[in-house]
Amino acid sequence: MRFNIITARFEEEDRAPGKWAVHGSDRSLTWQEFHKEVQAMADLLHGLHLPAGAPVAIRGHKQASVVVAMAACIMHNHPYIPLDIMIPEDRVRRIFNIAGVQLLIDCSDVPLETELTTLQDKGTLKHGKAMGAGSTPVRTDDPLRYIIFTSGSTGDPKGVCISRSAAAAFLHWTCSDFGFSADDVFINQAPFSFDLSVYELFTSLYIGGTLLLNDAETTADSQRFIRRIQERNGSVWVSTPTFAYLYLTEPKFNAGQLPTVKTFLFCGEALPKMTAQRLLDRFPGSRVLNTYGPTEATVATSLVDVTAEVLDKYADMPVGAAMPGSRLITHTEDGAPATKELPGEILIIGDNVSTGYLANEALNAEKFFVERGKRGFRTGDFGWIEDGLLFFNGRRDEQVKLNGFRIELGDITAQMLAVDGVADAIALPLRSGGAVKRIVGFVRPLAGRNNTELRNAILLQIGKELPHYMIPGDISFVDAFPVNNNHKTDRKALIDGYLAQL
Ligand code: AMP
Repeated sequence: MRFNIITARFEEEDRAPGKWAVHGSDRSLTWQEFHKEVQAMADLLHGLHLPAGAPVAIRGHKQASVVVAMAACIMHNHPYIPLDIMIPEDRVRRIFNIAGVQLLIDCSDVPLETELTTLQDKGTLKHGKAMGAGSTPVRTDDPLRYIIFTSGSTGDPKGVCISRSAAAAFLHWTCSDFGFSADDVFINQAPFSFDLSVYELFTSLYIGGTLLLNDAETTADSQRFIRRIQERNGSVWVSTPTFAYLYLTEPKFNAGQLPTVKTFLFCGEALPKMTAQRLLDRFPGSRVLNTYGPTEATVATSLVDVTAEVLDKYADMPVGAAMPGSRLITHTEDGAPATKELPGEILIIGDNVSTGYLANEALNAEKFFVERGKRGFRTGDFGWIEDGLLFFNGRRDEQVKLNGFRIELGDITAQMLAVDGVADAIALPLRSGGAVKRIVGFVRPLAGRNNTELRNAILLQIGKELPHYMIPGDISFVDAFPVNNNHKTDRKALIDGYLAQL
């Protein structure tokens, strides 16, 4: 059996109905059981008479019911908004308002207190109200499948809308060019609110494979995680390179212990050559796939099989060739093709590009465009193309990646500035070998403030509004912000001054 995310129907129902569809952190469901539960949840949704195309928030962590709820929403063309429990409640409420959420399906062990109509895991319905008028565009010809919220530079999260046609372009690619089959067991660990997880979630449902969900407690305990992969015959590892790098410090992480793992699929941040090499050494015969792309273009747009030859041939790690039907363009400002010496902004044009940010017309006009009928997105990433392969050369703005998580530094700065007693603030990244290792919040306090109390107030505010991975590793108090020749805050001087004191 499989769940066709494009047509929103279960198909090939006679094929292996007793095979596992989902191993949740709490329970496992065969395809037959999964089908039954999705249908029951879809019937319940139908009975609620939500407005067509109304977004539904799904909160939880790695429970099997989260996947059931997602499939049920897809069946009725309601885009779902995945909200991992790590997202603080204040931010969740802001997302409800931005999206005009009509219903919350709460699968978490500790349900959120909200005035919103809520459906809890056990089928209990708590009637409440809908949020706002509903700002989500309703397109019957290309309904939205999901909306994922990412960090926004102004302090408000941005809702990236992914439509059926974008999901279809993505799935046609992953189910043809990645070498997957219905026998695969896709190992998930990324939170569902991070679009990396769409790789294994959508591909597994669409191809009729098995989805192996692992909660944060399991992945934090390497012995437990390795045992679970062994017991469930995990075959496709999907993560950020940082997550795999951490596992490379575990001696049991090798083909002898994990003989069923055949593919390592990466996205979300730069894959160091050393990580790829060490994986190929530890798992001989496995495939290491590097892929690149922002949430705004449905998970990923380019793919390269990182073989020993690729590692040998290129000094830099390629991020791959564009998927069929999409184009990657890198031009310098004067229109010449970008080169390694002179990288250009990466533009993505194709069906996998999002229809835009939710209720954010100004940003949509800046970032999205249409070229000859195809959607396009200005990524803000820089790179060049060589031998038909894209190479990534970082960004020039305030968006950074920390352990694969996407962070707009302005989002953190805005929270620090909101604290009483802060005269000025800026969040800056500390880098090592090109990768961000830590974020430091620099703060100029108002006169007479106690630094310890102010630090606690800032951390409290950030912890209330932002996910844990956005909390600065340190808050550093300064008397004044240094200014450079252009009369801008001298960020380098701030960082140098900070490092000098350590
Ligand atoms: P997200 O929207 O969280 O998936 O983050 C997308 C951003 O992550 C991209 O715009 C890039 O800046 C970065 N990124 C994604 N994949 C790669 C990769 N393979 N190598 C380097 N950077 C990447």
